[in-house]
Amino acid sequence: LRILITNDDGIDSPGLQALQSVASRFGEPVVVAPDVDRSGVSQAITLTRPLRVRRRRRPGLPPGDWFAVEGGTPTDCVYLGLHHVLAGELPDLVLSGINPGPNLGWDVLYSGTAAGAREGVLQGVPSVAFSLVSGGKGYPFDDILDWVERVVQMTIQEPPPELSFYNVNLPNPLVGPIRGIRSTRLGHRYYSKEVVARTDPRGAEYLWIGGRDVYMPDIPGSDCNAIRDGLVSVTPLNCDATCTNALRQMTDWNVESDHD
Ligand code: MN
Repeated sequence: LRILITNDDGIDSPGLQALQSVASRFGEPVVVAPDVDRSGVSQAITLTRPLRVRRRRRPGLPPGDWFAVEGGTPTDCVYLGLHHVLAGELPDLVLSGINPGPNLGWDVLYSGTAAGAREGVLQGVPSVAFSLVSGGKGYPFDDILDWVERVVQMTIQEPPPELSFYNVNLPNPLVGPIRGIRSTRLGHRYYSKEVVARTDPRGAEYLWIGGRDVYMPDIPGSDCNAIRDGLVSVTPLNCDATCTNALRQMTDWNVESDHD
């Protein structure tokens, strides 16, 4: 099996090495990842700056093909991985992650981890994104590898339908034993709306955005609930973001003249 691996946390992320080690059980993975942490860039593609792909050979990295893209986003990495590093011979799978932290509910709109998988789908390859929820207990990647392997195995048996991919969140086994796997829909996540204002050494104000506190309403069948129930959550996500509910109501928007 040929597997392309990327992430949004950068080439040095332990989660990337964990995913590479699982992929090694299935075949020869090729890793193409950002040189630094690009979390939160979603589907950004770099069109205004040059990119450089550098082979990484150094002690500490597991054996295999490791490439860092200087200044690259996850989307850049998948694009260059497929059309430059692998030179047009499409792999069987694109795997993205393992992100240290959840990508639940609306997180997936901001997530570079999810975007790595979405880009794989848009380029015609079945894709999966993986994230590990901390729950305040850190990120024991070594303890979840067998669950990741099970999801990869199930993906090979039942790939996501056309133009969709699997977004996978794993509960933290240090919070409680992982009880199984559940297919889910996106839940809702409300972050506290914090803006932290500070002053730089020259007296000018700077800001950090993003709240620490999250509220997740109880929605049966959601990814958030699965994590709370100690289950691996697998959410199929569609690249087609059309709102079919609205479209059904929008009949009176249709105006077409009879002549050119
Ligand atoms: Mn990340």
